[in-house]
Amino acid sequence: MDMDDQKRRRNMLVYVLIAFVIYVVLNALVFPNYKGATSEQTVSYDTLWTALEKKKVDKIDYEVGSSDATITYTLKDDADTLYKTTPLPSDTGLAELIRTSGATIDVSIADTSTSLWLYYLVSSILPIAIFVLFGWWLNRRMKKAMGDDGPSMNFGSGGFGMGGGLGKSGARIIASKDVGVTFKDVAGQEEAKESLKEVVDFLENPKRYEDIGAKLPRGALLVGPPGTGKTLMAKAVAGEAGVPFFSISGSEFVEMFVGRGAAKVRDLFKQANEKAPCIVFIDEIDTIGKRRDGGGFSGNDEREQTLNQLLTEMDGFDNHKGIVVLAATNRPDTLDPALTRPGRFDRRIPVELPDLRGRQAILELHARDVKTRPPLNLSAIAKATPGASGADLANIINEGALRAVRHGRDRATQDDFEESVETVIAGQQRKSTVLSDHEKQVVAYHEIGHALVAASQTHTAPVTKITIVPRTSGALGYTMQVEQDEKFLTTRQEALNKLAVYCGGRCAEELIFDEMTTGAANDIEQATKLARNMITRFGMSDDFGMMALGTVQNAYLNQDTSLTCAPGTAEKVDEDVRQMMVEAHDRAMQILRENKFKLHELAHYLYKKETITGEEFMTLLKRENPLMPGQEAGDDASAGSMPTA
Ligand code: ADP
Ligand code: MG
Ligand code: ZN
Repeated sequence: MDMDDQKRRRNMLVYVLIAFVIYVVLNALVFPNYKGATSEQTVSYDTLWTALEKKKVDKIDYEVGSSDATITYTLKDDADTLYKTTPLPSDTGLAELIRTSGATIDVSIADTSTSLWLYYLVSSILPIAIFVLFGWWLNRRMKKAMGDDGPSMNFGSGGFGMGGGLGKSGARIIASKDVGVTFKDVAGQEEAKESLKEVVDFLENPKRYEDIGAKLPRGALLVGPPGTGKTLMAKAVAGEAGVPFFSISGSEFVEMFVGRGAAKVRDLFKQANEKAPCIVFIDEIDTIGKRRDGGGFSGNDEREQTLNQLLTEMDGFDNHKGIVVLAATNRPDTLDPALTRPGRFDRRIPVELPDLRGRQAILELHARDVKTRPPLNLSAIAKATPGASGADLANIINEGALRAVRHGRDRATQDDFEESVETVIAGQQRKSTVLSDHEKQVVAYHEIGHALVAASQTHTAPVTKITIVPRTSGALGYTMQVEQDEKFLTTRQEALNKLAVYCGGRCAEELIFDEMTTGAANDIEQATKLARNMITRFGMSDDFGMMALGTVQNAYLNQDTSLTCAPGTAEKVDEDVRQMMVEAHDRAMQILRENKFKLHELAHYLYKKETITGEEFMTLLKRENPLMPGQEAGDDASAGSMPTA
């Protein structure tokens, strides 16, 4: 039944086979037929007579048994063959003939009762017994050396190319000392930590809960976008409680061999049961926990079996022992309902993207591991990174340190971290991409177009940084806007303003160069998405009002929506989106026309400096330029005032 037992039995069989082969070889060596004879031949009694008469016989063995007699003999000129024959009973003539032939004779009485018995014992049973015992001993020794979960003798799996560790769960067991993570290593995420502290408390004193009769959750599901620290927190729970931590990823269950996933689950819980109290952590549970669909023959039998086994195990284990199953996923909507019903993963712990305070805490935590040079203003970096996950922020700190090394410094500075914000968020600087001079002008106008529209609309956040140094992500320029405060709600006016800002880049190109470039592709995509959401989800259109026209497909990954309305309505939505975009475009164009003089001045400045800060931008914007009147300058003529190489 158990995989390990099966393997042991197979190994035993291999031993017996080997023992048999060795027995045959030994037997031939230790018990040779007859003084060096290599072949045996049964002949007629007559043949013996003839040989004796011709005096060719060398030695004769006359063995007298209880009921019959056997004669074996060799010839003088052929010592290699052993001849065998049965004599006539009490043939007196034979004795006479032997004597005259000059052959040596040896007469023995066969002892069938004891010697044969002993012979068989020594020659066959003993070697087998020795080998079986030896194999058993070796097996045990191996197992001891590898620990309880180690493989037993691996004749089969190695020899037949099945890969080692057949039937092992493959779960990485990390003892609590090795987890090395506690709640101190998790910054922010206060609510999630609060929920998990109860789990820790349960693992530390299960008795208290038992006494009052409370049933503790068997499983808790950590739900949140990638990189928010779900895996980190599961480890921290084990670290806090000081219990073993069994960790396995959902994808590890899905294997090539049918039935192995289920076997792994069984094995995992068996091990956990032995080590309780402990934590079993199943990462990326959506891989096996996807909703089962009852339809037809599915190629996912294996996954379903694994899931069923998991459900069975979760129902089966003894909760008083203190086993807590934690699981993590970023796709809670795809999970099978059976997994989330009470008694299984009944507790859902949301792990959200960090807010401003959380981001700062995470940055500070990771910056502690890096040598830095003050003054450091991590809150500025936190402000500039709305929507970044904990993993992104950890990466920003690391990239900053890497940049310091690249520049040959031994301490990272604020500059390094600020630069790495863009590295991580907008892609690495791509100095090797050489823009033609005209392209550089276009990008400068494009970016200033965004910034100007943003700055002149009161409700839009001011610009903090504009650059036309290309990024590896493909963006040729980049305008970084920072919200003053963390914002959770966006008003309709703000959304409309944002639309205009998206349009600002393209508008500047049109206004100054009277041409369109591909540089606005991403702006257009973002703007369209926003406009569509305003209509279908936020109820911000006059035509539809508060009518939900789409559903969010995946709340944590990308907020993709799918339309849930009649085809005719979808057409109307498209028309409204188009209308909204046209209006935003016109508004942006209007703003840029009114500020054309500033547009030229700022674009010129950006072109020269490549990167300007928000303050520089604002000073230039507010500065009165005595040389140029505050009226509209000539259209295309001003573009020519840009330096050309
Ligand atoms: P998830 O499992 O949610 O995808 P991880 O737990 O693997 O994310 O997080 C990846 C890394 O991001 C962690 O190793 C850690 O360095 C960093 N990180 C994420 N969230 C936090 C946090 N709240 N505090 C500190 N570090 C964090
Ligand atoms: Mg993870
Ligand atoms: Zn743009």
